[in-house]
Amino acid sequence: MPGGRGGGAPADTTKLYETLGVPKTATAQEIKKAYRKLAVKHHPDKGGDEHKFKEISAAYEILSDADKRGKYDQYGLDGVDDESGAAARGEDLFSMFFGGGGRGGGRSGPRKGPAVNHPIKVSLEDLYMGKTVKLAVNRKVIVGEVQTCAKCKGQGAIMEVRQIGPGMITQMQRACPDCEGQGTQAQTKTERKVLEVLIEKGMQHNQKITFRGMADEVPGMEPGDVNFIVQEKEHDMFKRKGADLLATKEICLNQALCGYSWHFTHLDGRKILVKTKPGQIIECETTDAESGRTLPYLTNVVGEGMPSHGNPFVKGNLYIAFHVQFPKRLEPDVVAQLRTLLPGANVDEDYDPEETEEHAMEFADLRHFGKGGAAAQSSEYDSDEEAGGGQGVQCQQS
Ligand SMILES: [Zn+2]
Repeated sequence: MPGGRGGGAPADTTKLYETLGVPKTATAQEIKKAYRKLAVKHHPDKGGDEHKFKEISAAYEILSDADKRGKYDQYGLDGVDDESGAAARGEDLFSMFFGGGGRGGGRSGPRKGPAVNHPIKVSLEDLYMGKTVKLAVNRKVIVGEVQTCAKCKGQGAIMEVRQIGPGMITQMQRACPDCEGQGTQAQTKTERKVLEVLIEKGMQHNQKITFRGMADEVPGMEPGDVNFIVQEKEHDMFKRKGADLLATKEICLNQALCGYSWHFTHLDGRKILVKTKPGQIIECETTDAESGRTLPYLTNVVGEGMPSHGNPFVKGNLYIAFHVQFPKRLEPDVVAQLRTLLPGANVDEDYDPEETEEHAMEFADLRHFGKGGAAAQSSEYDSDEEAGGGQGVQCQQS
């Protein structure tokens, strides 16, 4: 392989630093800061370039790990002989950063044991503020030397000779039962390990917090990762989407017309007051003509949403949706006052009750529209059930 450790051109040991835009002398803190800035800027969810984002993440993966960084400084990417090196070289990037599972085939280096996933329930308050949770996990660790399996002599497989008929034998290879095909045997013990799980500000539901190589130790294999999967708890005041929050408020007509204020304690404990501007009216929900969905009247408080993950000083917005409750009935003197106070009062024209028919308006259901009269029963286009006598009878009764 060109550019190997031995001869030829010296290995490149600067490219990853250039990718993150930091000098080779940068501290771990500076590297972290540079990465966060770039990751937020180039995140595909925020419209950034996916390839660029992966390049940045792969560079950070190596430079943030003191051991890997040391190897990279000395030997270049070839020194970092595992999947992060491969990622930084641009191999199999997609599955590395976007899951997809099916990696492992064709990869060189030691095989990796299975990852262990633990769901971790986190309140919206903790996702807002950030938190460190200490969690104990039990893992198997190898005690003493790893021995070559005596039965298979490290082959991981044994040959079995079987007689399948008179004078006929067959040789079959099968996995060694003593070492389960590993070729090695080792004593293990269960170790209790306390992990400090850092819930970072603005982390999302299903986000993974990885402890590399913290799963069970298996002879001849690199231990798998322990992942904590963030499970956002439901909140009784807010719904969350990305960095935005949504609260839904039921208000009465008086508040809708004359002003509304909401005093609450935010997720970080701050007291917040949001209020309508003078003269601002909160309208009733509308119906979207295309989808038929009810759209509540919506307001927005800029910057009072969740902190963005990796960039907690940039916050999302707080949306407030309203449902306006109309009064069920009003006292006559209230009506009389409102008539004079509210604009556009109804004008009763003079009419002669002897010559004019007067009707009261009853509450109606739109689904009954078109089903009135005797015509519905003989309609050619309506199905039997719909045009059945029931509706007609009902109408006559009312
Ligand atoms: Zn064996």
